[in-house]
Amino acid sequence: MSTLITNVGELVTNAAPGDEPGRGPGSFAALTGAALIIDDGRVAWTGPAGQAPAADEVVDCEGRAVLPGFVDSHAHLVFAGERSAEFAARMAGRPYRAGGIRSTVAATRAAPDEVLRANLARLTREMLVQGTTTLECKSGYGLTGPDEARAVALAAEVTPEVTFLGAHVVPPEYEGDRAGYLDLVCGPMLSACAPHARWVDVFCERGAFDADEAAAVLAAGRAAGLLPRVHANQLGPGPGVQVAVAAGAASADHCTYLSDADVDALASSGTVATLLPGVEFSTRQPYPDARRLLAAGVTVALATDCNPGSCFTSSMPLCVALAVREMRMTTQEAVWAATAGGARALRRTDVGHLGVGARADLILLDGPSHAYLAYRPGVPLVRAVWRAGQRVTAPVLDDGQ
Ligand SMILES: [Zn+2]
Repeated sequence: MSTLITNVGELVTNAAPGDEPGRGPGSFAALTGAALIIDDGRVAWTGPAGQAPAADEVVDCEGRAVLPGFVDSHAHLVFAGERSAEFAARMAGRPYRAGGIRSTVAATRAAPDEVLRANLARLTREMLVQGTTTLECKSGYGLTGPDEARAVALAAEVTPEVTFLGAHVVPPEYEGDRAGYLDLVCGPMLSACAPHARWVDVFCERGAFDADEAAAVLAAGRAAGLLPRVHANQLGPGPGVQVAVAAGAASADHCTYLSDADVDALASSGTVATLLPGVEFSTRQPYPDARRLLAAGVTVALATDCNPGSCFTSSMPLCVALAVREMRMTTQEAVWAATAGGARALRRTDVGHLGVGARADLILLDGPSHAYLAYRPGVPLVRAVWRAGQRVTAPVLDDGQ
């Protein structure tokens, strides 16, 4: 079964014509007056609409834009409870501190599997109808061996991009025994989680884990077959980015407070800087300096950090709008970072672009250009989504086409 998506006003491909299949996303690229063929869940052809081959089924986009599905490379979706009161208090003037995580830990431990699974299903559905076709999901609200193992197993039900984040914070029962908790994280907890996870992550921040502790967690994760990524330099200057680069991490996430040496380290490494502007929006912190990173040649990704504490949005369109308006990224840079950048942060070559051979993950926008994501902030512009070639219904937006 093949599908011709035609009369596309702007087709964002992030691929140059003639790119080798399997090469992964290139730089921002778009075709106008274009068409695309989906066959067997993959992009089989792109080019001028007038030259498109025949297909079993035709979708007329009526001049609207088509983009690669968003790749949200940073989310914490396995949790119970909510923290709107904490958010309201913060907006009334109380600063965010990392310790708020502990209230979600208590609620998550107490929740039955069905509650966690239902919350996860609701959030992943919410992401999908907003155009997120690839997502990463972290543990980190269990913080016991069995609770973390449960979290990664639940996450693995919804995505292959599962991250073990036992080193999120030291839980209250280990308050006086950090070394004991690290032994647990790097030992039995890791062993229980590694079979369900692809990544290991650590919150390297004052109030969470220091450089030596973070490096030990990443090394243990690596020894168990997991690939590193790091929560770095969110709340203040610190060693997170250097730890991430030294560990060969795929991504250093947040990057809000960076020294020149941090920027240089990122620029000369394969570590992506993943910016999470929803967090700064939701905590009223300064935004990361995206222009400084881009000027230095750092690969930048955008992700939501969807979590019940510091940022409870699942919306990649919001992150694109914030990146453009608040971080002075161009519309092209922001859309690239939310698609191809996320793919780079997850070391995926099959998503984040619409080159021939890519997984057919597409967003049909209700607008003629990718710029509408920032030009019309807060408006539900995602009219249709295809994931691996399957059209996902979005009942609120579907007018029967
Ligand atoms: Zn996070």
